[in-house]
Amino acid sequence: MLLHDYHPQSQLVTPASLPDRPRFHAIDAHNHLGADFGGGWDQKPLPELLDLLDQAGIVKYIDLDGGWGEDLLNAHLDHFKAPAPERFQVFGGVDWSQWPERGSAFPEWAAARLRLQKARGAQGLKIWKGLGLTVRDPQGALADVDDPRLLPIWETAGELGLPVLIHVADPVAFFDPLDAANERWEELLGHPDWAFTSPPFPPFLHIISGLANLVARHPHTAFIGAHVGCYAENLAWVGALLDRCPNFYVDIAARLGELGRQPYTARRFFLQYADRILFGSDFGPQPQAYRLLYRFLETEDEYFRYDPDPLPHQGRWHIYGLGLPDDVLEKVYFRNAARILNPG
Ligand SMILES: [Zn+2]
Repeated sequence: MLLHDYHPQSQLVTPASLPDRPRFHAIDAHNHLGADFGGGWDQKPLPELLDLLDQAGIVKYIDLDGGWGEDLLNAHLDHFKAPAPERFQVFGGVDWSQWPERGSAFPEWAAARLRLQKARGAQGLKIWKGLGLTVRDPQGALADVDDPRLLPIWETAGELGLPVLIHVADPVAFFDPLDAANERWEELLGHPDWAFTSPPFPPFLHIISGLANLVARHPHTAFIGAHVGCYAENLAWVGALLDRCPNFYVDIAARLGELGRQPYTARRFFLQYADRILFGSDFGPQPQAYRLLYRFLETEDEYFRYDPDPLPHQGRWHIYGLGLPDDVLEKVYFRNAARILNPG
C-alpha cells in the first residue's frame, strides 16, 4: 500500500457533536460570492443563497469579491446588497495592473477609485496576497507590502472609514522547499501555483514584517489581517502585533486546521483578544463548513476532522474544540464585526 492510500480511522470513543447553527447569530466577515472563490452566486437566484445562510445562522455575509471594475462591483451590489441590504456588505479592491501604466500618479488614482467605490456602496477594501508576491511598480520591481509610495491608498481608506481586509503571504510552508519535510506537501502537489518557495519569492518573514509596518504606520485605518493575521502558525507574533496596534484585527477564515491543532494556545489567544477576532469561513455559503467552525469554537470535542472533505486539504492532522465561553462567542460571532465593519 502506498502512504497516499493509507487513511487510518480513529477509534477513540469521546463525546461528539455537530451544531447546525451557532449559539448566537453570526456575521461572516470573510467570504466570497464570485466565480473564483465563492461558487458564482452572482449568477444564481438570491433566495437560494438566503436560505443557505438562514440554515447556517448567518445574519450578515461579507462578500469580498466586489473587485475594482465598475461592472463587477456594481453587479455584486445590485445582485446582493440592493435586494437584501441588511444581509450583505460588498468590499472593493485596488487594480494593481494600472500601476506600471499610470506611474507616479497611480497611488492617488487608486485612492480616488476608493472614493468612487464607497460612493457606490462598497463597505470595505479587500487586498489580496498579490501585494508582496507579484505586484510590480513601474520600474518592474516587486513592491513591498509597506511600500511608502502607496500611502494615499491606506490613508484614504482610513479617512473614508473603509476597513481594509488584507491577506498577505500564505501558509509558512508554502515558502519552504517542496520536499519531504514540507507539512503542506500534498496540498502543494495539487496546487503547484500556491508554492512561493523563497527564493525566488521573498521570504515569508519579509512579507509579514511589511504587514506589521503597514498597520503601525496608519493608526487611523482599521486593518483586518485575514486568516488569523496572515500568520496562524505563530499566534504569539499575531498577539504582539495586536498589542502594539489597536487598529489591527484578525479573522479566522480558512485556518481551522491551524488553530485547532494548537488548542491550548488558540484558546488563550481567543480569551486574550476576544475583542479583536472576527468570525469568517472563506468556503462560500457552505453549511457543512460553518458547522465545523461552530464545533471548533463551541464544543470540547476532541480529535476531529477540520475539513468537510474526507481528505483534509491543509495537512493530515485533526483538531480539538476550544469550548469558548458565551461572552467570547458573542464577540467573535457578531459583536466585533458589527462594531468594526460599521464604523459610521
Ligand atoms: Zn478569502
